[in-house]
Amino acid sequence: IQLANKIAAGEVVERPASVVKELVENAIDAGADTITVKVREAGLQSIAVSDNGSGIQEEDIPLAFGRHATSKIHTNHDLFHIRTLGFRGEALASITSVSRVTLKTCADNTVGHMVKVENSEIIEESLTRAKKGTEIIVEDLFYNTPARLKYVKSLHTELGKITDIMNRFAMSHSHIRFTLQSEDKTVLQTSGNGKLNEVMAQVYGLTIARDLVAISGETGDYKVTGRVARPEHTRANRHYMSLFINGRYIKNFMLTKAIIAGYHTLLPIGRYPVVAIDITMDPGLVDVNVHPTKQEVRLSKEPELMTLITNLIKEALLGESL
Ligand code: ADP
Ligand code: MG
Repeated sequence: IQLANKIAAGEVVERPASVVKELVENAIDAGADTITVKVREAGLQSIAVSDNGSGIQEEDIPLAFGRHATSKIHTNHDLFHIRTLGFRGEALASITSVSRVTLKTCADNTVGHMVKVENSEIIEESLTRAKKGTEIIVEDLFYNTPARLKYVKSLHTELGKITDIMNRFAMSHSHIRFTLQSEDKTVLQTSGNGKLNEVMAQVYGLTIARDLVAISGETGDYKVTGRVARPEHTRANRHYMSLFINGRYIKNFMLTKAIIAGYHTLLPIGRYPVVAIDITMDPGLVDVNVHPTKQEVRLSKEPELMTLITNLIKEALLGESL
C-alpha cells in the first residue's frame, strides 16, 4: 500500500504547489468561506491550510487518508457529473506518503480531533480545540523521496507557483476570503466580497482595476461570466488568461484562441490580454477525468462555446469604444 501511495504521489504531488492546490480544493469542497494558507521555505518546510468548512466526522478521519477514499463520489453516474473539485480520493493518501501530516478537525463545534500521520499511518491522536473546520499541516515534504526533492526548483520559483495557484483560486472563488502568508508575510489577501474586479486588482495591481470590463452571456449549454482587461493592459505571455469551468482552473488551447479572437486586431502581435472567465455548464459536458491533476479537460460542443466567448469579448470591448 505504501509503495502504491508513493507512485500515485509522484503524479499528484509534484511540488509544494501541488499540495497547496489539493488542500485548498478540499477546503473549498468542504464549503469553507475563509481559507488561510501559511508556508515556510516555499512549502518545503511546512504548509498549513486552515478552513472553516464542514470538518471531518471522527469516524471518517482514518478513511480520509485511505487510497481512493473519497466522500464525494458514490455512483458511476457521479463520476461523469462532478461538481466538487476533488473526486479521486488520492490527494491526502499521496501527501501523507511523502510528508509528515497533522490534521486537526472539528465537525460540530463541540470537540475537535488531532491526528498525526507518518508513512501513511496514524502515529498519534488526541482531542483538540473545538471550532468547526479543518487545519492540515504538511511538514518536511519529500523527506523520504530525495529524488523528488532534487527535482524541486529554487524556493523563489516554488513560492511563485504557490502564489499563482492561490491567485487563481481567489479569482474563481471571489466569495471566499483567501489569505496566503509566506514566512509570516502576507502575499495575498482577499475580502471574499464576491467582486472579481477587486480580486483582479489585488492580483494584477490597482492600475488595471478601472480597465476591467465585465462580460456575461449564455447559450443553451454554456453560461460565461468574467472580466476582461482593455487592450492597453497586454502581457508578453498567455499566463494572465485564466479560464475556469464550474470554478475549476483549466487549460484549453481552443478556448484561449477564442479569447484572443475576441480582441481581434486590438492586440499587438505577440501580446496577450489579462482576463478571468468562468464557464458554468452541465458537468456532463466536460470530462475532467483526463489527468490526475485535473487541469486538462475535454469539452463537448466546443465550437459553440468558442463563438460565445469570442462574441462576448468583442461586444464588451467595442461597446466600450462606441
Ligand atoms: P477527494 O478530494 O478526491 O475526495 P482527498 O484525498 O483530497 O480526496 O480527500 C479525502 C477525503 O477527506 C475527502 O473526500 C473529504 O471527505 C475529506 N477531507 C479532506 N480535506 C477536508 C477538509 N478540509 N474538510 C472536510 N473534509 C475534508
Ligand atoms: Mg481532494
